[in-house]
Amino acid sequence: MVLEAVQLTSTDTLAPKDTAPAAGRARIEIGKVLVDRVDLATAVGRIRGFLADGRAHQVTTVNLDFLRLAERNPLFMETINHAALAVADGMPLVWLSRLKSEPLAERVAGVELVEACCELAAEAGAGVFLLGGAEGIADAAGRAIERRFPGLRVVGSYSPPLGDFSAQQDRAMVQLIRDAAPAFLFVALGAPRQDLWISQHLDELNVSVAMGVGCVLDLHAGVRQRAPGWLRAAGMEWAFRLAQEPRRLWRRYVLNDMPMLARLLVSAASERKGGSAVPQPAGGI
Ligand code: UDP
Repeated sequence: MVLEAVQLTSTDTLAPKDTAPAAGRARIEIGKVLVDRVDLATAVGRIRGFLADGRAHQVTTVNLDFLRLAERNPLFMETINHAALAVADGMPLVWLSRLKSEPLAERVAGVELVEACCELAAEAGAGVFLLGGAEGIADAAGRAIERRFPGLRVVGSYSPPLGDFSAQQDRAMVQLIRDAAPAFLFVALGAPRQDLWISQHLDELNVSVAMGVGCVLDLHAGVRQRAPGWLRAAGMEWAFRLAQEPRRLWRRYVLNDMPMLARLLVSAASERKGGSAVPQPAGGI
């Protein structure tokens, strides 16, 4: 799809929007990030409600790398914590929740949540827009999704050039989405970029649900494969992804996320014992 620059009159804002329902929302705090205590069916039920209430909602799929990125990026932390729904897209989060004695029912994988949203969209006649991925990926994923979910309308798809967007590109992408008028927007720009982009533009996109989806468009386009079920159940999906993209992912998984997991496990285990993870100064000021 060719994108032409369009001027919009609305102004961008960096502050994430507070779209979180205030009451009746059970969440667990993992490394200061708030994650909804939902299984897949409950998450889908929430999203069905988002479709009906006429407002814009951000959905995030939190994994270990999100926790690490959020620790260093307060805006990303705020974005996740103010999202209308933040699911645990990673077995390490489930393990940590058990150690903290606030067990999450299950992992809610982003790829499965997107599939459930596609079923919802097909059933409700709601349009879907795909944004992100390398050149041609959003279009290919759109065709694959339409084949897989009969009745689903992919009302637009666009893979922007890699790297930072100019203000003009940014406005043009927002306008492209507004013109297509989807109910669901799936954004695959990698974290934290995809989630920050959604948060920054949520009020002007005119969608019901906007979700950062990472590698999900690559999976639908067929350029990446998903790990087999037994590896996923063992919490080893990362190893399968590492084998497919070692140059890009070794730093993330091996250098960054493993020490983060070790730190969080130690901290959760010490909380469980009733001790404090952080030593307190004696007789502090
Ligand atoms: N991506 C993109 N533009 C960028 C960076 C990433 O379109 O500037 C796309 C990339 O092509 C891939 C997707 O973002 O399709 C997923 O990124 P990542 O693997 O980091 O996501 P994860 O699933 O690990 O969260």
